[in-house]
Amino acid sequence: MNIKNITQPFIKIFPGDLSGNSIQRNTPKVLFSTVAPVGFENPKLIIFNETLSEEIGLGKLEEKDKAFLVGNDLPENIQTYATAYAGHQFGNWAGQLGDGRAILAGEITNESGRKTEIQWKGAGATPYSRHADGRAVLRSSVREYLMSEAMHHLGVPTTRALSLSLTGENVVRDMMYSGNPQEEKGAVVVRTAESFLRFGHFELMGAQKEYKTLKDLVDFTISNYFPQIIHEEEQKYKDFFDEVCKRTADLMVEWYRVGFVHGVMNTDNMSILGLTIDYGPFSMMDEYDLNFTPNTTDLPGRRYAFGKQGQISQWNLWQLANALHPLIEDEKFLEDSLNNFGNYFWNAHDKMLCKKFGFDNLLESDENFFTSWQALMQDLQLDYTLFFNQLEKLDDKTDLKSQFENASYTFLDDENLKKIEHFIKKYKLRLESNTITKEESLQLMGKTNPKFTLRNYLLFECIEEINNGKSEMLDKLTKALENPYKEIFPELSLKRPSNYDDISGCSMLSCSS
Ligand code: AMP
Ligand code: MG
Repeated sequence: MNIKNITQPFIKIFPGDLSGNSIQRNTPKVLFSTVAPVGFENPKLIIFNETLSEEIGLGKLEEKDKAFLVGNDLPENIQTYATAYAGHQFGNWAGQLGDGRAILAGEITNESGRKTEIQWKGAGATPYSRHADGRAVLRSSVREYLMSEAMHHLGVPTTRALSLSLTGENVVRDMMYSGNPQEEKGAVVVRTAESFLRFGHFELMGAQKEYKTLKDLVDFTISNYFPQIIHEEEQKYKDFFDEVCKRTADLMVEWYRVGFVHGVMNTDNMSILGLTIDYGPFSMMDEYDLNFTPNTTDLPGRRYAFGKQGQISQWNLWQLANALHPLIEDEKFLEDSLNNFGNYFWNAHDKMLCKKFGFDNLLESDENFFTSWQALMQDLQLDYTLFFNQLEKLDDKTDLKSQFENASYTFLDDENLKKIEHFIKKYKLRLESNTITKEESLQLMGKTNPKFTLRNYLLFECIEEINNGKSEMLDKLTKALENPYKEIFPELSLKRPSNYDDISGCSMLSCSS
């Protein structure tokens, strides 16, 4: 790998704490602290993403590179660092947070000039570890590696995963915060993104009234990642805010398309580029439920439930707007932008839903149609992915019971079947308003509705296997997630087996990683 080509523009430009001290502390007025990965005696590489490595300009893996992948061997010219950010967690201002278990190597540039940041997750404590150890467990590392890659192949903007290594050391975690801590295998994921900047970076500088650094950070973000913004002065920052709103709304629509619940949409977990970032207690939807949250910490308020993600991202954008206020003094503009977010989001959302149903146009009457669909889904506990897969297979020969009984988590008695029949009648009628052929409509559905989604129970089984030194499931899931619009392994595209209904680490997850 070309690790010698890694550069570090971020730490050349911005104020940082260069002491290299990893003791947890507040680091006012700076955007990063230099800190070294802790180093591991007996690491073992489990997965390497060769395609990604080539794509971003790191090239082929050689035996000697394996030490780099856990932070043991670093090129001489780099100083590794953790960035400082702040954030609102569960609706409250949390002050300084920062990369507590992530350390950045810097960025690599590929042949076409595309730049990609590289960071280790789980390679040791940083000044921002906040009484935690800066380590990650195998369980959460496998989840992050596979889910971020699955999202990429689904076509959803996301950070990506380059490698997964066991560290060879054990880490103690109380998985369900039940007073029952256990030793688990430690792991390091190397992850990549065009940028790991979050809303929280801007909030930190805003809160500390470091307006010069705030302005420099926004200028840096615009010139590197939003080159299409050509205006100057305040208009430049207005364009930037609008663009972040748009990317965030587009991301939310994508999450709804594939049925992804993030679980911890705190502002420190919101990417300024509109990427899915920080895979913790996330889940793909099995049975459709707007109220579903996989995160045990979020159970009381269900703030980050599936159906709230659009609204919460708007709330998060309000916090970003507050942070950017020194650069955009026009409050009316900020308010209008935030109010427009709702219209933009719902319009994009409804157009996306149309595609899932195979409609080529959005009609005014669709609002009613969608509402009756949602009611049916919730009422009959229909599986989000399988329901649309079955819609694609609708014909007049197969009876509805055999079509939908394997897509529902409730028993389909006559009454329930009547509800489906009633809805399908409405659906067929609505299809008649299409201006495209049946074939084109099916094509639209085919590329909008995944056939394979990485359900939590599949991840759970895969982690069990890896813990026992096996990798069959891992290989199979990797193939399946690379081709989510095909049904390569029919046995991986079934509803969640009932024995997984109440298993912790499967139906419910915590943030402990
Ligand atoms: P999260 O809810 O996972 O986004 O984490 C919130 C904050 O806690 C971030 O600043 C993380 O870096 C930090 N954090 C979470 N887990 C750990 C850990 N094991 N070690 C150090 N910091 C952590
Ligand atoms: Mg986070």
